[in-house]
Amino acid sequence: MRALTWQGKHDVRVDTVPDPRIVNPRDAIIEVTATAICGSDLHLYDGVIPGLRPGDVLGHEFMGRVVETGPGSTLKPGQRVVVPFTISCGSCFFCAQGQFSACDNSNPVEAQEASELLYGHAMSGLFGYSHLTGGYPGGQAEYVRVPFSDVGPIVVPDGVPDEQVLFLSDILPTGWMAAENAQIQPGDSVAVWGCGPVGLFTVQSALLMGAEQVIAIDHHPNRLRLARDLGARVIDYRHSHVLEALLEMTGGIGPDAVIDAVGMESHGFAPDNLLDTAKQKVGIGVDRAHVLRMALLAVRKGGRVSVPGVYGGFADKFPLGALMEKGLQIRAGQTHVQKYGQDLLQRILEGQIDTTFLISHRLSLEDAATGYRNFRDNQDEWTKVVLKPR
Ligand SMILES: [Zn+2]
Ligand SMILES: [Zn+2]
Repeated sequence: MRALTWQGKHDVRVDTVPDPRIVNPRDAIIEVTATAICGSDLHLYDGVIPGLRPGDVLGHEFMGRVVETGPGSTLKPGQRVVVPFTISCGSCFFCAQGQFSACDNSNPVEAQEASELLYGHAMSGLFGYSHLTGGYPGGQAEYVRVPFSDVGPIVVPDGVPDEQVLFLSDILPTGWMAAENAQIQPGDSVAVWGCGPVGLFTVQSALLMGAEQVIAIDHHPNRLRLARDLGARVIDYRHSHVLEALLEMTGGIGPDAVIDAVGMESHGFAPDNLLDTAKQKVGIGVDRAHVLRMALLAVRKGGRVSVPGVYGGFADKFPLGALMEKGLQIRAGQTHVQKYGQDLLQRILEGQIDTTFLISHRLSLEDAATGYRNFRDNQDEWTKVVLKPR
């Protein structure tokens, strides 16, 4: 089959690779009908996530048609499914509490040592990501093997276009959980850093949850326009002093909740970010945590901090004092996609949530490398890329 493979920093190629096959009884094979490039794929593309190997098949946002099932799968050939990017067994201690992205059974034992060292505990398995998370071949391919197919995939009715439901695989539930982690109350002021796909879905979710004002911060005019169209007020950080603007927009007390939808590759010429960038370049630091630092300073006393943006390693210059002295709460994590799938599918079918507004480009899988390059280098226009394997 054809698949997008990672070869090294800024080098991805569509290659012919072996077809996937059923390995375990609960597996299913999906013929991919639509897949997307994610902001976290760019962290892999930029080579800042450890644990990739040349030839790895990328892609963790995908959907398609079931073509083959193991005896333990509950899926049936011909069904259309959207597959969560988190791989979860459904029955371990964590899955039983709905903490699916902390599953203890989806990351093979031989892959666990490095993440235990980095994080204290092994990560769960993720599609098309790092070998720290199992090294599972991803969905930017014609076919993909889906483990625990009786737990994860969301069956979607025929007649609903792929593009309306594809983002149930990651960015829509990720934006939703980001807003939920911010514990939004009706009347709240919420600041969201980053108007990428996750940031935009976070804005939409926060407004649906009753936030009175959502303030979106970015520097790409087109992305800021998309946030404004959703109902957000916007700050272009190149033209405004963000902390002063936020104080002004919140009656001098700061936002009730702040959300970092940027993560480890923040932009801008702030001194701390320049230092982090230099450290990242020479490999003595992983995370550029400028946005998180700023969010902690901006949030009101007693406020809530939510971090859907991806961080991978260690950050310094962290405003620990602000966290403690202001009495902040902070929540983060990879998304528990399986927990939100049915509810969000229903909201899409009822027309409450639109997922298609941010798609800027549709390419064939063969042109995936072009998609990666532009999604990284021309972020203002390339807001979301959907790939079609055929
Ligand atoms: Zn993603
Ligand atoms: Zn589990």
